[in-house]
Amino acid sequence: MSLTRKRILVTGGAGFLGSHLCERLVREGHDVLCVDNYFTGRKDNIAHLMDKPNFETMRHDICFPLYVEVDEIYNLACPASPVHYQFDPVQTTKVSVIGAINMLGLAKRVRARIFQASTSEVYGDPTVHPQTEAYRGNVNPLGPRACYDEGKRCAETLFFDYLRQHKLTIKVVRIFNTYGPRMHPNDGRVVSNFIVQALRGEDITLFGDGGQTRAFCYVDDLIEGFVRMMATGDDITGPINLGNPHEIPVRELAERIITLTGARSNIVHRPLPEDDPLQRCPDISRARDVLGWQPGVNLEEGLTRTIAYFENLLSERGAAAF
Ligand code: NAD
Ligand code: UDP
Repeated sequence: MSLTRKRILVTGGAGFLGSHLCERLVREGHDVLCVDNYFTGRKDNIAHLMDKPNFETMRHDICFPLYVEVDEIYNLACPASPVHYQFDPVQTTKVSVIGAINMLGLAKRVRARIFQASTSEVYGDPTVHPQTEAYRGNVNPLGPRACYDEGKRCAETLFFDYLRQHKLTIKVVRIFNTYGPRMHPNDGRVVSNFIVQALRGEDITLFGDGGQTRAFCYVDDLIEGFVRMMATGDDITGPINLGNPHEIPVRELAERIITLTGARSNIVHRPLPEDDPLQRCPDISRARDVLGWQPGVNLEEGLTRTIAYFENLLSERGAAAF
C-alpha cells in the first residue's frame, strides 16, 4: 500500500454528504469503507462506486460497536433533516451520543484520527449573528429539535473529552445548511422541498412569513472543507464552522427556485415550526485562516445543478416516486 493511501471509514456514507465524501476519497485512491444502516441513506447514492476496487460497504448501525482497522474515521451517521431526525427522536439522540462513543472507542483502539460532522444547530436559535465558534448557543433542551441539537452538542463534548483523556486526534466541524444532488427528495429540507414542489408544479410551502434567514452551501464546497480539515496537523481540533456566508431570507430562496425552474407554482404560507431558528449565518473567518477555505459555488450555479439532478430523478422514476 502506498504511504498516502489510507484506509478510511465513512459512517453515514450512503447519505447525501457521505456519498459525496466517499466519491471524493475513492477518486483520491484511498481504501474507503462506507458504513450505513440506510435509515435515510440510499444505495442509489453509492451505486456508481460499487464496482471500484477501493470501495466497500457494510450495513451496520453505529449504535453498536464496530471492529475494523482504519487510519481515519469521518463520523457522519445521523439523520440531518428536521423531518427525519424528529421521526424517531430517541434514536437520533442514540446515534449522536452512543454512535459517537462507539466511533471514538474505535478511533482510540486503532489510533485513527476522527472527524465529527457537527452542526450549526449547536447554536440553536442564535442571539449572536453571524455565528462564531466562540458563541455557546441558545438551544431549547426540551423542544422538538433538542434530540438533534443536544445529541450533537453532547457528541462534541465527547470528542473533546477523548482528546483530553485519551489524546485522540479529533477534527470537529460545524456544518451550516448544505444542499446539492442526492439530497433525499422527501427529507423535508427547504432546498429539496422547494425544488421538488416547483418541478411538480405544486404550491411552494413557505413556513412563517419566510423572513427567517439561512445561508446555503453547495455540497462540493463543503466536501473540500472536510478533506482540508482532516489533513490539518494534530493540534487543529476545531470546532470550525463550514458553510456559505451568503445569507438570504427563505422567501427569497423560494422566489429564486421558481425563477430557475420556470415553475408556475404559487407560494403558500404554513405555520413556522416550533424552535425554527430565525436567523442563521456562519462566520467562516476561522475556516479561512486555518484551512484557507471558502465556498466557490454561488447560489444560482448550485441551485441549477441541484435542479438538474431532481429533474433527472423525476424523469427516471416518474412523479409517483416522489
Ligand atoms: P443524510 O440523512 O443524508 O445522511 C445521514 C446518513 O447516516 C444516512 O445515510 C443514514 O442512513 C445514516 N445513518 C443514520 N443513522 C445511522 C446509524 N445509526 N448507523 C449507521 N448509519 C446511520 O444527512 P446528511 O445531510 O448527509 O448529513 C450527514 C451528517 O452531516 C449528519 O451527521 C448531519 O448531522 C451533518 N450535517 C448536515 C448538514 C446538511 O446541511 N446537510 C448540516 C449540518 C450537519
Ligand atoms: N422551510 C420552509 N418550507 C419548507 C421547508 C422548510 O419554509 O417546505 C423553512 C424552515 O422553516 C426553515 C428553513 O426553511 O426556516 C430551513 O429549513 P430546513 O428544514 O431545510 O433546515 P433547518 O435550517 O431548519 O435545519
